[in-house]
Amino acid sequence: MSAKDHFIIIGNGPAGNNAAEVLRENDKKARISIISTESFSFYYRHRLKDFISGRIPAEDLVVKHYSEYKDKNIRLRLGQFVEKIDPEKKILYLKHMEKINYTKLIIATGGSPRILPSLTIFQDYLTMFSTYSDTVGLRHRIEKAKEIVVLGGDLTSFSFVKSLVKACKKVSFLLFNDAFWPISLTSEMILKIEENLKSHNVATFFNDSVEMIKKSKSKYTIETKQNNKIKSDIIISLMGMIPNIRFILGSSIDTDRGVLVDAYLRTNFKDIYAAGDCAQIYNPILKNYWVSIGWMNAEEQGKIAALNLLGDSKIIEPPKEEIFEYEGIKVNTSWWKKF
Ligand SMILES: Cc1cc2nc3c(=O)[nH]c(=O)nc-3n(C[C@H](O)[C@H](O)[C@H](O)COP(=O)(O)OP(=O)(O)OC[C@H]3O[C@@H](n4cnc5c(N)ncnc54)[C@H](O)[C@@H]3O)c2cc1C
Repeated sequence: MSAKDHFIIIGNGPAGNNAAEVLRENDKKARISIISTESFSFYYRHRLKDFISGRIPAEDLVVKHYSEYKDKNIRLRLGQFVEKIDPEKKILYLKHMEKINYTKLIIATGGSPRILPSLTIFQDYLTMFSTYSDTVGLRHRIEKAKEIVVLGGDLTSFSFVKSLVKACKKVSFLLFNDAFWPISLTSEMILKIEENLKSHNVATFFNDSVEMIKKSKSKYTIETKQNNKIKSDIIISLMGMIPNIRFILGSSIDTDRGVLVDAYLRTNFKDIYAAGDCAQIYNPILKNYWVSIGWMNAEEQGKIAALNLLGDSKIIEPPKEEIFEYEGIKVNTSWWKKF
């Protein structure tokens, strides 16, 4: 590789950071840049729930300090949003009007909280979180709150509820069966979840749904189809994630739910790869795409994308199906690592 190479990674999560490490280990000369919208360097997303509920300080979130990038001669551009890619000319367009040329690119933009179509009309009343910036103000609101409603059904929602209970909050949980995409909750799983939450003194509202949300001063009232009225200081919605690919649409990079890549994590453009939660990966045996979710998958994919970008031909193996037990709920998957 030559010193003229400029490898750019969009995204500062586990996929992007592992890609950058592998690129630097194997190429001492190339320019390597990571661009991220976030204002904080690499941190543990799964610890955010403990940070918001006041159980750990911000220092415990850190995976890598800013200075470590300098030591490895990796340029970390924080607080910068890539708005558009021109894959023919190999140019990135940033929101602050800067254009950057790259020779090879890895898209590792992860996902953002999903909102269910039935809840979009109440969007202004809902609080969602997936980044450190989302949680800074929220931590203070949670500290003051006495009653909290969680609208959820994904894995994060269950563990978050437990963090709130430990922080002595009065918690109500409304379950949305389709929040656990790509898993469908069976009635057996739902019963188990309900039993589990009740044992933690969580008020559960299952087989019910939101009819109306009203706000008076700083208090919310949720009215449900089954005529329940639940009071809350904050309503938190945790319904899984959708890949951050909106900025790619219209660029002629193939996308579906995520960025479409082959088993080598290559997109339809020769020098562009995708890894982590934003990628949708082709499985030649199943003749279909599999979804990539979870910290460990993102790490592995970041490494493989980087090796292949440097000329290797490594295939990413889909995680093996296995029973994964989470708080008493048995899920037939292995994509989520329990931390
Ligand atoms: C609250 C929470 C709890 C979780 N708990 C677990 C758990 O227990 N176990 C588990 O396995 N997984 C867990 N996850 C999921 C795990 O964190 C993700 O699977 C993992 O972080 C995905 O890594 P990634 O590198 O693909 O993307 P991310 O970590 O999402 O990083 C994406 C990066 O891309 C940046 N970005 C996005 N768009 C742009 C753009 N246009 N321009 C510039 N930058 C951009 C973002 O700012 C971000 O830095 C949890 C996630 C959350 C939010």
